[in-house]
Amino acid sequence: MMRIKSFYLFKFLLCLLLAVCFVFSLGIPAAHAMAKDTRTVRVAFPIQTGLTQLDEHGNYSGYTYEYLEEIAQYTGWNYEFIEVPGDPNESLLTLMDMLEKGEVDLMGGMLYSEELGQQYDYASYSYGSVETTLQVLYESPQDITINSQVSQTFRIAVAGKGGQRQQELEEYCKMNLITPVYIYCDGVEEQLAALKSGAADMMLNVSMNYVDGVRTVARFAPKPFYLVTTKGNDSGLVEELNSAILSVEQANPSFSSELYEKYFFPPSDTLYLSDSEAAYVSETGKLRVGVLTGQSPYQYEDENGKLTGISIGLLDYISQQTGLEFELIPFVSRDEMYASTQKGGLDIVAGIPYDYDFAREHGVSLAQPYVSSQYLLMIDKDVSENSIEGKRLASLSTENYKGESAGSVVVCDSALACIQAVARGEADYTYVDAYTAQYYTNLPQYRNFKLIPQAYEPRKICFGVVKPGSWDLLSILNKVNSTISETDMQSIINQNITQKPPASLGDFLFEYPVESVAVIVCISIAIIAILLIFLRQRAKMNKKNALELKKHFQVYALMNEYFFEYNFKTGIMIVSTPSKSEDGQPSLLDFDFRRPSEEKEKLRKPFMDVILSQEDGIHEVQLACIDGKTHWLRIALETVYDNSSPAYAIGKINIIDEEKLEKDTLLKKSQHDSLTHIYNAETSFELISEALSGIAPGEMGALLIADIDHFKLINDTYGHLRGDEVLRQVASLLKSSFRKEDIVGRPGGDEFIVYMRNIRDVRTLTDKCASLCEQVHGILIYPGKHLTVSIGVAIATEGTTYSKLYQLADHALYKAKELGRDTFHLADGSE
Ligand code: GH3
Ligand code: MG
Repeated sequence: MMRIKSFYLFKFLLCLLLAVCFVFSLGIPAAHAMAKDTRTVRVAFPIQTGLTQLDEHGNYSGYTYEYLEEIAQYTGWNYEFIEVPGDPNESLLTLMDMLEKGEVDLMGGMLYSEELGQQYDYASYSYGSVETTLQVLYESPQDITINSQVSQTFRIAVAGKGGQRQQELEEYCKMNLITPVYIYCDGVEEQLAALKSGAADMMLNVSMNYVDGVRTVARFAPKPFYLVTTKGNDSGLVEELNSAILSVEQANPSFSSELYEKYFFPPSDTLYLSDSEAAYVSETGKLRVGVLTGQSPYQYEDENGKLTGISIGLLDYISQQTGLEFELIPFVSRDEMYASTQKGGLDIVAGIPYDYDFAREHGVSLAQPYVSSQYLLMIDKDVSENSIEGKRLASLSTENYKGESAGSVVVCDSALACIQAVARGEADYTYVDAYTAQYYTNLPQYRNFKLIPQAYEPRKICFGVVKPGSWDLLSILNKVNSTISETDMQSIINQNITQKPPASLGDFLFEYPVESVAVIVCISIAIIAILLIFLRQRAKMNKKNALELKKHFQVYALMNEYFFEYNFKTGIMIVSTPSKSEDGQPSLLDFDFRRPSEEKEKLRKPFMDVILSQEDGIHEVQLACIDGKTHWLRIALETVYDNSSPAYAIGKINIIDEEKLEKDTLLKKSQHDSLTHIYNAETSFELISEALSGIAPGEMGALLIADIDHFKLINDTYGHLRGDEVLRQVASLLKSSFRKEDIVGRPGGDEFIVYMRNIRDVRTLTDKCASLCEQVHGILIYPGKHLTVSIGVAIATEGTTYSKLYQLADHALYKAKELGRDTFHLADGSE
């Protein structure tokens, strides 16, 4: 049994953390209404790490301090913190004494014992509890595990001999077959030193006494601690305290545990792996992690198909911290993923609910949750949260949220599907966790929701180690989870929930409809303005060019010539037209290239062939014109090159029909005999020579020389004019008697010459000569007296020369005269 004022009890209390305080009635009636009173409560403030702290700047902090401040939110109290200088033990003693006497009103951190209960009035509700703990060094060389089925001996460092905690330890050791060997130390520092030197395996401590570098391997004998006041205080302070503690706990049930974490379990940023865990890391290969995608912001594929999200970020962190390597295997279907776990295809599954039933069903062991996110009711902005009763709930198939008053349930595969179901009106409301809500409400299409926090247990997400998995792996995952700093974890979460998916144009328009319309209108106006300026400039330029062209063409028109310009690139031909031809008729040439037709193209072809030939200079072509006649054109062509490729063809066109006609007439004149209009001697010679040179082997030609008999007599008797008339009649007869291709000429006097091409045989020739003599009889010199001719004939074959042929024919003619005239003679060798 302990005596309240004994030094040992005091020391014990101190070691186990607990400060004491008392309350002393000020005689002011209790007030339950919130913040009505501005009563000043004097609080005993013994300086104790974690519980009641005071820094060098005079700032108060600590578990009890913060709890009291929270109480003050309800009670409206002001506090006067009373510290007593000097040794902590003595000052605590002094303060307890002051509390007993009513010199201070309140003191915290008080455990309950019968004796103390007689000395002070306790609040009815504790404001925290403390456990006895066994702790080992983080980097403890061997794995220390307590197994109640195996007898083990441990050297345990304890502060001071005996004491209640040691008694509790005895009981705990008995239960777990531990034989304790006590190493007595004078305080925590020595205990820690004993662990570090290897003199002790464990140290005895209490959960509220934070010691850096150790981890807890056993917890037992939890004890509540209280706020106490001066015995018999009748100011209503205890009642007010009770109500306030109840209110604090109801408002935030985790308030005390959060405070506890804050002051007694500051997260250790050092990760210590045991030997067997370190061995696991070095021996194991890449761990295959099943990642169910489409679970934004926890795990999803980004726009590049890369897996990302909070779970993935944390896996990266684990990898960096431990050296474990992960191979991420994405799954779109939950069933497929768990089928893979059953076949042993996966070692870990990421982002699963921290739910024991779920874990059992899917054959995984749960690591501690890495995300705990409050559930929010997500409901359309226009719907009241009080009217969801009986309405349709969109619920995640894996979720264990059992919200109230669900009407019919629309089961969805993902949180997004739930949100979309509500957005589309297929469901009326859904529950999503705060991070998921934050992620999606970043998107404009999901902004129109009301989010109402729910008091339900938050959504917890964790990794699952596929059974039969490694114990070490589970423990490593948990160690990382417990050592990751709040900042690091929050940074992983923030990166993923605040990361806005790339905004599409649609999203932007949705988000900023007015601004978008304004921007579109401004851009459109600017484009239209630029376009108008451009068109205006171009129209101006075109007008200027057209005027220039018109000017040029008018000059050309004055010159009564056609000028043209052909653009090789565009294929456009521009032709100036003379104003009017001299007789007032419109232009003969149709150069309107704007309305092409097949017929026109055909007609223009000879012209275009010249234009496209790029052969600069003068060309003369015949062209069918719009008057239906063919006219001669003289085209002067000049090609303009851009580098080496033709750019333009320019030039002028003249119609040269008259010139051509004149030339032809002159030529004809020079070639023909002026009296009979058949070829003269020279032309006959040229044409016949040409024909002879073209005789193919086996082919025959024939030369006939016809001489009028006794022509002199006709001249003498009837005069020269009559003689001329007879000559014309003979010429005309010859012209009509022979084929077009035969050559008929008059070398001179009364002598005519005929070259017959390609004669079939000698018989045909002699028949023709006989017939000719006969035909000449049709020309009458006077009635009853007809004309006769004598004909000398020679045959030409391949290689026969004109002079030779002529000589033969002439000689034959002589023979014909000799034979008495009015006959023909075929030269020797010709038969
Ligand atoms: P033959 O039967 O032997 O031929 O007797 P011929 O009188 O016809 O004699 P020849 O052939 O030598 O006479 C040719 C005459 O033709 C000589 C010349 O006066 C005449 N003559 C030549 N040129 C012309 C001409 O252009 N007009 C006319 N009317 N007579 C011409
Ligand atoms: Mg004659």
